[in-house]
Amino acid sequence: MNVLDYMERYGHEQFSVYTDTSVGLRAFIAIHDTTLGPALGGVRVWPHPTEEAAVTDVLRLSRGMTYKSAAAGLNFGGGKGLIMADSRKDKSESLMRAFGRFVESLGGRYITTEDVGMTLQDLEQIAQETSHVTGLPISMGGSGDTSPMTGFGVYQGMRACAKEAWGSDSLAGRVVAIQGFGHTATALVENILKKEEGVKFFVADINEESLSRARQYPGVQVVDPDDIFSVACDIFAPCALGGILNNKTIPRLRCRIVCGSANNQLLELEDADAVQKRGILYAPDYIVNAGGVINVSCEVGATYSEDAAREKTARIYDNIQRVIAISKKQDISTARAADHLAEERIAAMRKVRQGYL
Ligand code: NAD
Repeated sequence: MNVLDYMERYGHEQFSVYTDTSVGLRAFIAIHDTTLGPALGGVRVWPHPTEEAAVTDVLRLSRGMTYKSAAAGLNFGGGKGLIMADSRKDKSESLMRAFGRFVESLGGRYITTEDVGMTLQDLEQIAQETSHVTGLPISMGGSGDTSPMTGFGVYQGMRACAKEAWGSDSLAGRVVAIQGFGHTATALVENILKKEEGVKFFVADINEESLSRARQYPGVQVVDPDDIFSVACDIFAPCALGGILNNKTIPRLRCRIVCGSANNQLLELEDADAVQKRGILYAPDYIVNAGGVINVSCEVGATYSEDAAREKTARIYDNIQRVIAISKKQDISTARAADHLAEERIAAMRKVRQGYL
């Protein structure tokens, strides 16, 4: 792969590489776009089989963060960190602190947080070496686990979709099919049950522990993982994996809305067109699952307040309405409309901030 060509093609600003042989650290930080503010995004610990796979992944993910923050109305750009390691056996305090020094060396252009393969304790260690870290444990004055806010945001997205599909944002009496009953799905179901009457849930998971947790909630019926795509329901909520909306699964869907927490639900952008052609309203993943990044952003340069984070996350409802309006006006899929929303905000802010002050 030609890194510079890739960066020019997708508009990346910076790509940094760091090694510390004394602790076995091999890491990358990609900064996509800082028009709106410092690049914010998690650091992932993942044993990619090749350097090329790792570089492509971190560049792609950093760009995704630009879109997510921009569309959410945050004053942050997009960035991502990647430590090439196996989170089950390679992590140590020294590895994390070495990564913290890497972050510090970028002088605040990149703010790191938790991602796949990371724990809050790892972040605590990173924070020994840099102040450019967010999403810290509550014991350190941080916001702690992000999934409750992500689940709350997905619920707001569902309500906005319901308003569009059925003329009312109540989910009362609706049937929701959930793929993956982990942290975000649990928070989603709790939010729904707090406010809505008579909602029924089909739940699929590959983990027995997750399923027994799901069974404790009223209205839950467990189905096989493969059947979750074809159960008759009102809303399909992908809350586990990426790439699950593709040419094999889309024809099987029997829902009116797709709205869930999982990242990168579409295998290809064109799959959003196929979903739309089937008369299904797709809530773009990075719009509805922005609660997590909104939550951690509320820690940067301010004392974290859960109320403030909730208020900002509740705006996901309005954002989905905006995306639907763009999609209708321009006759494009909601996924493309979400990209327009983000790109337009970045372009507008670039103009507003170009003059000398
Ligand atoms: P989690 O690990 O707590 O839960 C995922 C669940 O999916 C697990 O119970 C797992 O067993 C299940 N699963 C895995 N493969 C499956 C399959 N093939 N079929 C059915 N179930 C399967 O994760 P989470 O924090 O709830 O995150 C879920 C998704 O949301 C991920 O894609 C994540 O990237 C995305 N997301 C999470 C947050 C957050 O704040 N946690 C924020 C934004 C996006």
